[in-house]
Amino acid sequence: MKRLVYERPVIQRLNAGLMNKYGTKTEFVPFTHIDGNAVTDLISTYGSPLFVISEKKIRETYKDALRAFKTRYPKVQFAWSYKTNYNNAVCNVFHQEGSWAEVVSGFEYQKAIHNGVPGNKIIFNGPEKSDEDLKLAIHNGSLIHIDHLDELYMIKEIAEATKKRPKVAIRVNMDTGIYPMWDRFGFNYENGQAWDAINKIMLNDKMDLVGLHCHIGTFMLTPGAYGIAAAKLSELATSTMKKYKNKIEYIDLGGGFASRNTLKGSYLQGADASPSFNQYAEAITTAILNAGFTESELPLLILETGRALIDEAGYLLGTVISNKRLSDGRRATIMNFGVNILFTSFWYDHKISPAQHFGQYFEDTVLYGPLCMNIDVVRENISFPPLKKDDHVVVHTVGAYNMTQWMQFIAMRPAIVMIDTNNKPHLIRKKETINSIQDEEVMPSYLKSFKL
Ligand SMILES: *Cc1c(COP(=O)(O)O)cnc(C)c1O
Repeated sequence: MKRLVYERPVIQRLNAGLMNKYGTKTEFVPFTHIDGNAVTDLISTYGSPLFVISEKKIRETYKDALRAFKTRYPKVQFAWSYKTNYNNAVCNVFHQEGSWAEVVSGFEYQKAIHNGVPGNKIIFNGPEKSDEDLKLAIHNGSLIHIDHLDELYMIKEIAEATKKRPKVAIRVNMDTGIYPMWDRFGFNYENGQAWDAINKIMLNDKMDLVGLHCHIGTFMLTPGAYGIAAAKLSELATSTMKKYKNKIEYIDLGGGFASRNTLKGSYLQGADASPSFNQYAEAITTAILNAGFTESELPLLILETGRALIDEAGYLLGTVISNKRLSDGRRATIMNFGVNILFTSFWYDHKISPAQHFGQYFEDTVLYGPLCMNIDVVRENISFPPLKKDDHVVVHTVGAYNMTQWMQFIAMRPAIVMIDTNNKPHLIRKKETINSIQDEEVMPSYLKSFKL
């Protein structure tokens, strides 16, 4: 018998688009205006790509969230999570609505002070606080959330040297049924670290323990996890009151509410899968109200909600650079924005709409960014009408994290425009120029000239 020829096995990626129950038609409609402003006008005035923020949407969302908690609990305070979007104009919209500031670094702390937030309304989180950061925060009477014992001892030394009593809280991590646990931040509840830190603070008598804090994760789809967290923090608060007669003034549940984005691999659209503010508020407030506080002991409830308050207010406008066919026959469209400015496309299937009218034909398409990097994929597979070079698209729900985690890789970062509640656009961040980058560089004199 003739020997068969060996053929090596191959793994071949299948690119068939997933059918959803409505068929393959795109869910999108042309999206031509944002708060009364034509996408084409915005691009011709401010350039492309362009981030656009709807002030109206921020204020509406904030009021919704506040209402959900205020109707269920008497004392509620939001603190704007700077790292989610620390553009000063954005921060000040939240401050005008009554939000305090929540910062996670010395740099963000300076931003909040610069914006005019009173020191005692700044919550200072995060594992890295320098000696200078802590001195300034103590001087300003800010609320310092201690992350680890080394920080506790630094604060103690500063308090002794300056004769000031710092106002502190501890960050607590805990099992809420969500894994992996974020146990690298703060002190653990179950193994007793948190109670140990409380005892160290209370018996040391150099600082005032005013609060208890946790931030259990981000894009949390289970409101019940917050109920567990609120119950555990409440238990620590009532134990502290019992043992030391020290009133815990506030319980801070951190951030982490899901926005209406769609996580990659999710069957349902984010708008259907994400819990409402009411559901989160019900879980949290029920746990605190049932925890055994007397009426006068009831702590202020602080929330550091980030992405759920800003994501939907942000849009990214962009332009088609080119179309091509991949070797497997798929259509590919190259956009003028990529993962450099749309960092969240690693996690989300963003809703993307063409900004002009389109016909009946749709095709599975890969949307690429302009970077010379293979990972620069905005969408692996989207049923999209064919767009031409210079057509525009609008990416929705990009207000959170993209404008702080964006990177300056081979291109400058674009401008940000805010549309006010009267539909008037305002430039709130200029697009970068070559000077934005070159000004920081220093050329040693011996490298200044060369001959080729
Ligand atoms: C990032 C962060 C937040 C905001 O989280 P979201 O998931 O955007 O709501 C709040 N608190 C702390 C301590 C954080 O690190």
